[in-house]
Amino acid sequence: MEKKNIDWSSLGFGYVQTDYRYVSNFKNGAWDEGVLTQDANIVLNECAGVLQYAQTVFEGLKAYTTEDGRIVCFRPDLNASRLEDSAKRLEMPVFPQDKFIEAVEKVVAANAAWVPPYGSGATLYLRPYMFGSNPVIGVKPADEYQFRILCTPVGPYFKGGAKPITIRVSDFDRAAPHGTGHIKAGLNYAMSLHAIVSAHHEGFDENMYLDPATRTKVEETGGANFLFVTKDGKVVTPKSSSILPSITRRSLVYVAKEYLGLEVEEREVLLSEVPDMAECGLCGTAAVISPVGKIVDHGKEICLPSGMTEMGPVTKKLYETLTGIQMGRIEAPAGWVHEIKVD
Ligand SMILES: *Cc1c(COP(=O)(O)O)cnc(C)c1O
Repeated sequence: MEKKNIDWSSLGFGYVQTDYRYVSNFKNGAWDEGVLTQDANIVLNECAGVLQYAQTVFEGLKAYTTEDGRIVCFRPDLNASRLEDSAKRLEMPVFPQDKFIEAVEKVVAANAAWVPPYGSGATLYLRPYMFGSNPVIGVKPADEYQFRILCTPVGPYFKGGAKPITIRVSDFDRAAPHGTGHIKAGLNYAMSLHAIVSAHHEGFDENMYLDPATRTKVEETGGANFLFVTKDGKVVTPKSSSILPSITRRSLVYVAKEYLGLEVEEREVLLSEVPDMAECGLCGTAAVISPVGKIVDHGKEICLPSGMTEMGPVTKKLYETLTGIQMGRIEAPAGWVHEIKVD
């Protein structure tokens, strides 16, 4: 199969239209067969549930080429089950988990020419999502839904090495207690846009959100979970019912314990403890770990000892081990690397 003629390493994180996307519709209480289509546009009624009341949930994962030339995805079963949790919380029908995996396999195989080669640092980003598609004006769940997976090639997250970022403690909240912070819903992002635009305007890369009830505990950023390393080498990650359960963070916790023999604590993390931490990173599919060098709390600077030039040593070890597992350089736990057959 011939690859597209693209300068993979110069790609950013933006939408590039690929050849195929997967579409399945839910109507009269059942999902249809599902098809691949070349049509990138969606025609919706003006009153569709998603347009009026934001009834939509999504996922994000990557397809990429391993060192030995296979096309794979990383733990897509966890995306399937998280999408199920998200759908249930917004009163949407569940897209069956086995069909989710099948749809991922089909759409990646159809777009194999768009999967960047090993070593380019680029990947094919997959965006599964579903939304209420029939007209809804009284507030209630839609009766009809569409599930889609679009693919877009994205460039290496770190161009020229991982540079630590500076974040601020946000005055805005991301998720209410007992709200929707734990599901991957567009609505959590809509309300974060003002906070991120104002953070960028003030020269910060990201927002650190605190728990809205007490404003004393670290939650997460707009799209990534926190991982801290203590001065005695323990990995600490915040536990809260309003954090989105990152697949990257869960994988890193396993790697820390089982591959690196580190002690890991998943617990509430007070903002007041952060000045005592040695390292800090943000975990998510896009970057795996993005190192944090400085956290600004209303003018008060918390400078992580790992500094502003490179990842801290433990963060780096975690990063290299997980990316090694993903790329096939280090043996993966069973089921983590899901091969896509391309014929
Ligand atoms: C998607 C997401 C993450 C990262 O999850 P991964 O499964 O690791 O990609 C973290 N926080 C929020 C709010 C997210 O939406």
